[in-house]
Amino acid sequence: MTIQAGSRWQNWGRSVEATPQFVGRANTVGDVVDTLTFARERGTTVRAIGAGHSFTPIAATEGVLLDVSGLRGLLGVDGRLVTLGAGTHLHELPELLAPHGLALENMGDINVQTIAGALSTGTHGTGARFGGLATQVRGATIVTASGELLHIDRDHHADLLPAIALGLGALGVLVAVQLECVPEFVLSAVERPEPAETVLAEWEQRIAEHDHFEFYSWPHADLVSTKTNTRLPADAQREPLGPMREWFDNRFMSNTVFRLSLEMLRAMPAMIPPMNRLSVRLEADRAFSDYSWNVFSTVRTTRFREMEYAIPVAEVPAALREVHDLIERKNWKISFPIEVRASAADDLWLSTAAGRPTGYIAVHRYWKDDEREYFREVEAIMRAHDGRPHWGKMNSRTADDLRPSYPRFDDFLAARDRLDPDRLFQNPYLARVLGA
Ligand SMILES: Cc1cc2nc3c(=O)[nH]c(=O)nc-3n(C[C@H](O)[C@H](O)[C@H](O)COP(=O)(O)OP(=O)(O)OC[C@H]3O[C@@H](n4cnc5c(N)ncnc54)[C@H](O)[C@@H]3O)c2cc1C
Repeated sequence: MTIQAGSRWQNWGRSVEATPQFVGRANTVGDVVDTLTFARERGTTVRAIGAGHSFTPIAATEGVLLDVSGLRGLLGVDGRLVTLGAGTHLHELPELLAPHGLALENMGDINVQTIAGALSTGTHGTGARFGGLATQVRGATIVTASGELLHIDRDHHADLLPAIALGLGALGVLVAVQLECVPEFVLSAVERPEPAETVLAEWEQRIAEHDHFEFYSWPHADLVSTKTNTRLPADAQREPLGPMREWFDNRFMSNTVFRLSLEMLRAMPAMIPPMNRLSVRLEADRAFSDYSWNVFSTVRTTRFREMEYAIPVAEVPAALREVHDLIERKNWKISFPIEVRASAADDLWLSTAAGRPTGYIAVHRYWKDDEREYFREVEAIMRAHDGRPHWGKMNSRTADDLRPSYPRFDDFLAARDRLDPDRLFQNPYLARVLGA
């Protein structure tokens, strides 16, 4: 175990910074146990850290920051059940799983998160028949606040599984996770601009008809950019983007040019509406097919901040129209598109999709812009639709106002009382959203 004095820490979106008193690096389960003992003896708290890609201060601590990236790699494969070190990054999976012909069932936009970090905030992709990453958890091994190693699966402490799979880092330090994977598959992707009103009118039909449908709704424009991905067998003919096209679309246009235009538009906000109308037309209009992990994940080098809300799926068109009306009424100039996705209902206690088919609406702002007023007013709209905030994305919610939205909220708190009675894993964010 290495424990050193801490130094200033920032998240990817530069919305959070903290100076932990100590930083622990764990390469073994014993190191995790020792770090927790170290913190308990000093009367301080511990937060495990993943890739720092949450926009909320969910991972921040002034106590001990515990880096578990030494706990990574493939620990076992049993049919489709794969056991991974909790600090494994999602981008490592294709190589680890290739010899077994397996892949994650669904993924979000990026692949730089750790498994534990992505699970702990309820990271999801899109697809009305598919749940978020945590719905694939079949088992987990954690170190609890007392230093006990606890294995949870359907035969051991099964009652805790719906809490541990998506636990906000509040129940213990995940050291290993068992996920149910699927045989690797190819995705065919069709991306194009379409009239906003058509897509909104057909929203429920589109998500029902297609495996993975999502769209980016540009403020000040009447076109949206749609992405429709269809699952094909692994031996389907692949027609991937060539390396030049991949670089040009995904790196140069979506990141370099986009970032330069955002910088320019900061000085010329009146140009944002015409620029958005141009961008949606210039956005990739393309069709290709590739292994699922290459299609699901994109590269994001332009820093931004994000708030995402989960609402009942049928309410997406109305809520999105309200957001656009708000932007026009306030005369705001918003350069980032609004991302809209869908997910199946699940039964994880703190999942944003718990008990209901879900639509997601995510708003973004360039990291140098002030997001506060925009996010506050959009949050009010989402709350009126019984919205649940993504745990890793900016929100201002409290335990008291979240409780009515989650039927099993108090069960989660009871599990927390059982596993961390002295709040070794507490931080100000958890105190706000879960309570003291
Ligand atoms: C550019 C970008 C794109 C994104 N795209 C998506 C998307 O498509 N879909 C989506 O749903 N989200 C998305 N997110 C959000 C992101 O997936 C989540 O915030 C995720 O939690 C980040 O993972 P991480 O490894 O960085 O975890 P961190 O942010 O480092 O940590 C998140 C939480 O996990 C806890 N944790 C970490 N390791 C452990 C452990 N071993 N044991 C217990 N708890 C632990 C931390 O304490 C913290 O509470 C995106 C974020 C960014 C910046």
